[in-house]
Amino acid sequence: MRRPRNRTAVKHTLSQCPLLGVLAAAALSSAPPQAIDRQPTVVVPGAVPGQPPSDALVLFDGSSAAQWVYRDGRPAQWPVVDGALVSKSGTGNIYSRRKFGSLQIHVEFATPSMPNAHGQARANSGVYLQGRYEIQILDSYNNPTYSNGSAGALYGQYAPLVNVSRPPTQWQTYDIIFHAPKCGADRKIATPGTVTVLYNGVLVQDNVTIRGRTTSSDDTDPCEDGPLMLQDHYHPDVKETFMQFRNIWVRPIPQAAQ
Ligand code: MG
Repeated sequence: MRRPRNRTAVKHTLSQCPLLGVLAAAALSSAPPQAIDRQPTVVVPGAVPGQPPSDALVLFDGSSAAQWVYRDGRPAQWPVVDGALVSKSGTGNIYSRRKFGSLQIHVEFATPSMPNAHGQARANSGVYLQGRYEIQILDSYNNPTYSNGSAGALYGQYAPLVNVSRPPTQWQTYDIIFHAPKCGADRKIATPGTVTVLYNGVLVQDNVTIRGRTTSSDDTDPCEDGPLMLQDHYHPDVKETFMQFRNIWVRPIPQAAQ
């Protein structure tokens, strides 16, 4: 910091004008003192990174598929094997029992090894927000396909910013921040939804504006809350896809934070 040329002169000036002194003291402090106001709610983080915090709604903890149903409300029949919820081809898409608006989502998945399948046929699944907007799951490790259909894409709309896929059979993570569309009194979308996705901790969707429901999604009312949906993807080139999921939890985003 540069020193004043004449400290005595500065001191004299301040003593002559007390208000100037107060202003000088305020300017020197980094922030004015503030009263302690209403404190943020305490949330206890998971014991290790990725584990649900204390206020999360756990949709799958490794023990049971009880939080999941089919579209018609029947209990989901995806088996739980070694702590993982397993998508077995032909058993159908599954939906969370609860419906949500804006939401933070954590989901872990492991794609199967399918070296003889290519492109969209290799380990395809997806996480559908409100049952309408798919964050694509695919084995995108050395598996080129159209970019907005690869892992981490908002399917058909936005390619992921980077390909941060792990090899098949390894556990991977999606952390998703979804802001649901807002509707006007006419029940039409006034403000489109947005989504941010971290894939294995890396930003792949940066607050993109959702352009409408994605392919193979449910044609439901976009002004209504909807379930999280996990895809049982059918592709004529493959007989079965055994996708594994674990550690699925969500936190609804309060209106005040939107
Ligand atoms: Mg898919």
